[in-house]
Amino acid sequence: MNGLEQEVLKALANVKDPDLGRDIVSLGFVKNLNVNGDAARFTIELTTPACPVKDKLKEEAQTWVRRMVPALKRVDVDMTAQVRPTLGEKKSQMCPEVKNIIPIASGKGGVGKSTVTANLAIALSRMGASVGVMDADVYGPSIPMILGCSGAPRVVDNKIQPMEQYGLKIISFGFFIPAGDAVIWRGPMLHKTVQQFLGDVAWGPLDYLLVDLPPGTGDVQLSLCQTIPLTGAVVVSTPQDVALNVAQKAIYMFRKLNCPILGIVENMSGFVCDGCGKRHDIFGSGGARRACDRLAVPFLGEIPLDTEIRTASDQGQPVVLEGHPASEKSNVFRSVAQNLAAQVSIRLMQADAVPVKISF
Ligand code: ADP
Repeated sequence: MNGLEQEVLKALANVKDPDLGRDIVSLGFVKNLNVNGDAARFTIELTTPACPVKDKLKEEAQTWVRRMVPALKRVDVDMTAQVRPTLGEKKSQMCPEVKNIIPIASGKGGVGKSTVTANLAIALSRMGASVGVMDADVYGPSIPMILGCSGAPRVVDNKIQPMEQYGLKIISFGFFIPAGDAVIWRGPMLHKTVQQFLGDVAWGPLDYLLVDLPPGTGDVQLSLCQTIPLTGAVVVSTPQDVALNVAQKAIYMFRKLNCPILGIVENMSGFVCDGCGKRHDIFGSGGARRACDRLAVPFLGEIPLDTEIRTASDQGQPVVLEGHPASEKSNVFRSVAQNLAAQVSIRLMQADAVPVKISF
């Protein structure tokens, strides 16, 4: 490394990742640094393509280098991302190419868990991540409907091929259960299916696999935690649900199972009337933020109660899709997706982030 390159590194040590609380040099984000004459070029490799401060970091890097190394007339920065795996160098035998498995849970049904899962998955994928959705909501698998995806997955070389839609890889109980049929399965059957959904599906390389769990604290949750190390869980809740401490049960369950909580999403938070433009807090508001403070878990954001979010889901075209007539309303989902990706990065950068796999 020549003298100017060292000076560039010194300048870049002033640029701090606000989520990780450390400078981008000590985090190892600066790559391919090259100074040629009076031109510098380097790459900043973030831990997620969904980084909310990507543009700000690029700008700050250029500003600091120009300020501290005035000899340089040109500073080019390439922004890239490499999502880190939960297990680090080790790989799970079940799905070795899946970097992070993130269950999406709720204390009770009907709070919009599947809707949030589908929209977050598309948002993360559109930001450049490779994303899968595993619909493990055995009692009400609604992901096929929300993502407009039906049919029966094929088996090739003894591996179930996930369905593909909107750039996502998708597996759902709904693909295997006749429509309208009730599932009456005992714990061991559910456990076996969860294992198959993880180990027998050709997921391929994925940055994030979002798992839509059934509501509550039952067999599927237990099986998932028992089967594979998880990055951390997201809990979806309505404001009223938090007030009633229903969501708290899900949080306590994951804590007992040694699965960290990446945060709470408050869904159906406030309704803005199309007619009068006034916001009505039908289920109350701000409950999740307060619960997050109390339980010391991150608050990932709030999604309003909006008729178009529901109709978009009913039509199999989630509101976050580009070109959707109501897509401007979907920025809230993008913001929650960025916050979630940031929490994953924070967790993986922590020294003690080695997840514990429990056995019963
Ligand atoms: P869960 O998975 O928690 O059972 P769903 O995602 O199936 O819940 O949502 C339940 C119903 O509420 C669906 O009809 C869905 O379209 C609707 N819904 C979810 N979130 C919202 C929202 N933010 N605004 C309006 N309707 C919503």
